[in-house]
Amino acid sequence: MLAQRAEEQGARVYRGADVTACAPSPGGWQVAVSIGGQPSALNAAFLVDATGRAASVARRLGARRVTADRLTGIAGFFADRRDPAARDSRTLVEAAPDGWWYSAELPDDRLIAVYLTDADLLPKGRLDVGYWQARLAQTTHTRGRVSGGALESLRAFNANSSRLDRFSGPGWLAVGDAAAAVDPLSSQGISRALESGLQAAQAIEQYLGGNAEGLPAYARWLERGFEDYLRRRAIYYGWERRWPDSVFWQRRQ
Ligand SMILES: Cc1cc2nc3c(=O)[nH]c(=O)nc-3n(C[C@H](O)[C@H](O)[C@H](O)COP(=O)(O)OP(=O)(O)OC[C@H]3O[C@@H](n4cnc5c(N)ncnc54)[C@H](O)[C@@H]3O)c2cc1C
Repeated sequence: MLAQRAEEQGARVYRGADVTACAPSPGGWQVAVSIGGQPSALNAAFLVDATGRAASVARRLGARRVTADRLTGIAGFFADRRDPAARDSRTLVEAAPDGWWYSAELPDDRLIAVYLTDADLLPKGRLDVGYWQARLAQTTHTRGRVSGGALESLRAFNANSSRLDRFSGPGWLAVGDAAAAVDPLSSQGISRALESGLQAAQAIEQYLGGNAEGLPAYARWLERGFEDYLRRRAIYYGWERRWPDSVFWQRRQ
């Protein structure tokens, strides 16, 4: 929808475009992209890295990812054959001895149940369906919610709290998960991404208008926000006291 609005206002939107390289040029940047598999080159006065956790543009420009933990999610997708009237649209969060679960309805008659734990606490190698199902069987509320649904697929994803060691540089900045990614427990990933986009727009306007303060001020705003987030994360995880011997919970308390 946002891309459509941008197009209505005269911007060109390239769908299915993969940024493969970028280099400073007299007018700002020259960006190599692959659009539908066809190589192409674009010129830009300013670069915004909005590539999510990959932060692929910022990393090309020398920024490094700093991680605060090793949280990983293993998501199971279920076909939900229940009568829509019997479904519960709320997100369910349930703590477990070595992690926690969340489950939610998806729009296309599917349910998702995700086991969140640290990557080094999982069995090594391929995704282990048996291990995941055994953990699911140990839950109280989550297994009840997905019972009757058929497990269609499992997918692992990175859910760590992480940020770039720098959020901007001459002629570029990072927004959203590319700049700083948060724990799914916070449910703040989308709102933070949108908020950083609004802040970034102001910073870019200042930068292109010759005000050198715009980018450092944006970086300080992100820095403060991430520190505040880490403090809140510790408070939330600190509430769970049932498993004092669990490595997962010890790491967070
Ligand atoms: C399973 C799951 C459940 C979640 N649930 C919630 C939730 O309930 N609430 C919430 O607030 N957040 C949730 N999040 C987090 C939320 O999705 C993210 O925080 C948010 O999408 C970040 O937005 P973004 O635009 O920064 O990055 P993304 O949404 O990750 O978008 C980045 C885009 O950049 C593209 N890209 C990457 N590299 C390149 C490249 N080189 N060239 C061109 N394009 C590139 C990617 O394909 C992608 O389309 C969830 C995340 C996951 C994985």
